[in-house]
This record gives sequence, structure tokens and C-alpha cells, in this order.
Amino acid sequence: MSHIQNKIEEIKATLPKECRLIAVSKFHPSESIQEAYDAGQRIFGESRVQELVSKQAELPKDIEWHFIGHLQTNKVKQVVAIADTIHSIDSPKLLAEVERFALKAERKIKCFLQIHIAQEDTKFGFDFKECRELLESEFFSSLKSVEIVGLMGMATYTDDREMIKSEFHSLSSFFNELRETLMKDKPGFCELSMGMSDDYKLAVEEGSTYVRIGSTIFGVRQ
Ligand SMILES: *Cc1c(COP(=O)(O)O)cnc(C)c1O
Repeated sequence: MSHIQNKIEEIKATLPKECRLIAVSKFHPSESIQEAYDAGQRIFGESRVQELVSKQAELPKDIEWHFIGHLQTNKVKQVVAIADTIHSIDSPKLLAEVERFALKAERKIKCFLQIHIAQEDTKFGFDFKECRELLESEFFSSLKSVEIVGLMGMATYTDDREMIKSEFHSLSSFFNELRETLMKDKPGFCELSMGMSDDYKLAVEEGSTYVRIGSTIFGVRQ
């Protein structure tokens, strides 16, 4: 087994069965993705549209592509043509564009609402209030080609484990609150996307169902 394959096995062995691994392959070549694929990995995460498009063209067609990066509305069409799931819906406007192009393409796209939980201003996303407002809106009820499957969040980039844990905990609590209230009759709202290389174990402890792991598998990005 190659290094990449060993890492995937190692990580999977530590994940509870309800938590799936997204291998974040951004900035790494298609050959590395193929190695991971050969070890049985099928879910890959990309954060740049051009990379997603060119890799999808040359890799096996049963790969499930998850778009995880900030997405500009003028690139939605390309992502909707390829991605199974978008983790980074950070505005109603972006969601409306995904719906529009998914309708046109006759595709169903699963989406996560990205919630701002970190202390940094640089991270995109809704706050809790904006998220509730969206889920209460008529626009949300009118969505046909988009299914909101859950919430995504990124913790502050810090060594302070307690801080990371409390940010994941707050996202997880908010998610559970929504499942019991606004999303009560939406069984498809059941996923929590949180945890990266440095903090996925904490995320799993707080109930993550999708971890997005890049550098631990593929090495440091250039
Ligand atoms: C790059 C990226 C990851 C993976 O980060 P690693 O630290 O390399 O595991 C996860 N989520 C998002 C949104 C990313 O952009």
C-alpha cells in the first residue's frame, strides 16, 4: 500500500460508522486521487472550480465530488454540472444560483449551509440568526433542485483545543436545535460537515458526519 492509501485506512479506522471521509485533494495531482481511488475512496473534495473541472474530466466517473471552497456566483454553472454536494453555501444569492442552474441541468444538488463559527473575520458563512431566517423563508420552501442536507463549519485556526471544541459544540447544538424545530419534518437534514486534518477528532466527538481531510492524506499543499 502507498502512503496515501495507508493514511486513508488509518483515518477511516478511527471514524465512527456514521461519519464519512471526504478526501480533500485540492492542489494535488490526479495521480494522487487515483491512488486514493484505488484504495476504495470515492468521495473527494475540491475548492477551486477549474481544478474540479479538469480533474473530473480525467478521473473515474463514479467519484462523488464535493465542492468545499468559497464559490462565486459566476462559476455556479460549472460546479452544478459536476458536484454531488456543495458544502459552502454562504449566502441566499448563491443558493438561488445553485437552484437556478440545477433546475436547468435537471440535477439534484445537496447543499450545506456554511455557518460562521470561528473568531476570524476571514471565514465566510451565515450567523445563526441569518440561517434561521433563511430556513423560515418562502424562498427556502420553494427550492426544488437543491436539498439542504445540513450545516458546515470551520473552527478558528488556533492551538487552543478548548476553543475549537467549543466552536464545534456550538455548531452541533445549533444543528440539533434546527432538527427539532424548523427542520423537524425534513429527515434529509441530517449531516454535519466539520473537521479538517488538525481538528477532525474533536469534530467527531461533537457529532460530525463528514470530515474534510486533505494534508494528512496527501501531504502538505504546494
Ligand atoms: C482545504 C480544506 C480542507 C482540508 O484541510 P486540511 O487541513 O488539509 O485537512 C477542509 N475544508 C475546507 C473548506 C478546505 O478548504
